[in-house]
Amino acid sequence: MGDTIFSKIIRREIPADIVHEDEDVLAFRDINGQAPTHILFIPRKPIATLNDLDADDALLIGKLVLAATAYAKAQGFAESGYRCVINCNEDGGQSVYHLHLHLLAGRRLSWPPG
Ligand code: AMP
Repeated sequence: MGDTIFSKIIRREIPADIVHEDEDVLAFRDINGQAPTHILFIPRKPIATLNDLDADDALLIGKLVLAATAYAKAQGFAESGYRCVINCNEDGGQSVYHLHLHLLAGRRLSWPPG
């Protein structure tokens, strides 16, 4: 997988507003937030898209989701609600090819998405 802007954030080569990090996962504010809270959760492991996951990544994906839900609980909006999104490839609206989970909260989100 080629280098991406998110790999540079992991290596601290470019700045980001990091809100959580652990052994496997890094989370930072989206530079172009679409809700009052918009956090990106990324695995440190460089996986390009959902299509590139294999069975060995099952635990890692679980940790990614659990990092997001733990953040929602810690920030106090778990009960009011939030949305987690992973965009895949062009039709899914993916623009950065390092797997990431968007956590959006703080306003009523509409459905269906655009
Ligand atoms: P996606 O379109 O699902 O690939 O989402 C990529 C997201 O990364 C977009 O919401 C961008 O606003 C966000 N983004 C791009 N560059 C940066 C950056 N340097 N720091 C934080 N978020 C970024």
